[in-house]
Amino acid sequence: MNRLRAYHLWLVLAGIVTLALLPLPPFWIAQLNYIGLFALTSLGLVLLTGVAGLTSFGQAAFVGIGAYTAAWCALNLGWPPSITLLLGVAITAASAWFIGRITLRLSGHYLPLATIAWGLSLYYLMGNLEALGKYDGLIGLKSLTLLGEPIGQGQGFFAVCWTLLWLATVALTFLLNSRPGRALRALKDGRQMAEAMGVHTLRYKIGIFVVAALFACVSGWLFAHFQRTVNPSPFGLKMGIEYLFMAVVGGVGNLWGAWLGAGVVRLLDEQLQTWLPQLLGVSGSFETIVFGVMLVLILKYRPDGLWSWVQQWLGPSERLRDWDNAPVLPQRNKPAVGDVVLDVQKIRKHFGGLVAVNNISFQVKAGQIVGLIGPNGAGKSTIFNLITGTLPMSSGQVQFNGQAVHGLHSRDIATRGLMRTFQHVKMIPNMSVLDNAAIGAHSRGHSGVMSAILRRNRSEEKAIMAEAERQLVRVGLGDRIHDQAANLPMGQQRLLEIARALCADPTLLLLDEPAAGLRHLEKRELARVLRQLQSEGMSILLVEHDMDLVMDVCDHIVVMEFGTYLTEGSPAHVQADPKVRAAYLGTEH
Ligand code: ADP
Ligand code: MG
Repeated sequence: MNRLRAYHLWLVLAGIVTLALLPLPPFWIAQLNYIGLFALTSLGLVLLTGVAGLTSFGQAAFVGIGAYTAAWCALNLGWPPSITLLLGVAITAASAWFIGRITLRLSGHYLPLATIAWGLSLYYLMGNLEALGKYDGLIGLKSLTLLGEPIGQGQGFFAVCWTLLWLATVALTFLLNSRPGRALRALKDGRQMAEAMGVHTLRYKIGIFVVAALFACVSGWLFAHFQRTVNPSPFGLKMGIEYLFMAVVGGVGNLWGAWLGAGVVRLLDEQLQTWLPQLLGVSGSFETIVFGVMLVLILKYRPDGLWSWVQQWLGPSERLRDWDNAPVLPQRNKPAVGDVVLDVQKIRKHFGGLVAVNNISFQVKAGQIVGLIGPNGAGKSTIFNLITGTLPMSSGQVQFNGQAVHGLHSRDIATRGLMRTFQHVKMIPNMSVLDNAAIGAHSRGHSGVMSAILRRNRSEEKAIMAEAERQLVRVGLGDRIHDQAANLPMGQQRLLEIARALCADPTLLLLDEPAAGLRHLEKRELARVLRQLQSEGMSILLVEHDMDLVMDVCDHIVVMEFGTYLTEGSPAHVQADPKVRAAYLGTEH
């Protein structure tokens, strides 16, 4: 977060305090209170949908759990609000974890569908249980108190609710700029990449689903004490859709989008409900139609929501550079030069009837640069996917530093120090170059969600940033660290991938066509970096079509064609081999 944005945060708090003290008309305070309650729930949705790419229609049901737990326990057991909040949080966390656990493993529409089913069933449960007062609900809850004083439904409630909303936004801002935050931001489009960087993506998905549900639960707990009564209607599927609507209208790409979306939807809802029936001369929920049209227009013309306008006006944000005296991240023990680092034994992969990799064996020794070459479609990228665990192999074995790694998850292989780049660049386009590189250091850090929110991760975060910057400088991207990754030309995106892999302090680096798209000078620079890495004891397996580069930097070259092994040896040996020439030129000897 940069200095400017930090100052915006304080401005917002000052605004809240001012509004809480000004003599505003009760109608407007009531509106603001609803907006605050809604924004708290949509904040969780921004995190879930915008950041992690997961869609939930069931947030209203979690709001209901918070509200009903507060009301039922207070009215029947006389429990104080603090205890009902804890219980609500526990029930919400358990149910969200359960739903997440069974649906998030599956891709596609399972989560939205499961959340719809969840929303519907909880709604009917609330409406049909005698103990919950059926559709009439529970009545007679007391107002919340602060320092012994009831906060009521006016400005006191406003101050509490909006301060909580502000705190939640600040906490999430910290979270998004941290080790777990970067892992979360990779969930949407970069799951495979994140796993290859050592991120346990399923765990993060479930975690973020639970966190979003907790925001909804707290909002429900506040809502129950605000209304002093609960009934099922604000917790049904219609409201679940409306929460999603708020997040999308405001802009799921930014936390403030939740504030804006909740505000716009609440105020429009209010105004349209008064004006439309008067205008049309008949009563009915016409505002729903207007909302539907609005959603279509926004998705068409402003897919990033209304906040993107404000974002444009504010300009890009730049991370404050505060890691000059950062500690150094822990480093791995490196194998001695000459030890076998990678031992590939008869690996095989078929896709249906196509044998993409046919019983290939080779070794990489510590301090060696080994080239893996062959015409397009030879199976080189597939070999990378097999070694790194991105794809399961049909048969064969892989040993890394003397330990069998075939059959392990790609994140577990990455954590052991085997890092890769992708032939088709995989990065998070809307994140800075620096943050993208920092994902590579994921397995060297430990800080989790709580320590990020409480800012207990500061020294680790600085160490990660310093490492990311060091590696970016090393590959020649030192002057672009604050740019959005999407703005880099293709060749530099490949360099970014190398820097990201280096952030993990790997013992073996697998590079898939790193020079594609680089200009001549950049290629020379790349060769220099590769040799420097080698001199530091790094082992590299290089797939590359630029033969000058391959012949220049490799100690040993393995050649394959149509998934099969052709020959191997020194660059001179391979260059002189007629079989290799034939494979490349497509001619017989
Ligand atoms: P290279 O990287 O050497 O150009 P690849 O490893 O990408 O070659 O591909 C080897 C062969 O396997 C190609 O014929 C390709 O079409 C096929 N292939 C690669 N990945 C898949 C996949 N996921 N499903 C089906 N076929 C694939
Ligand atoms: Mg390839």
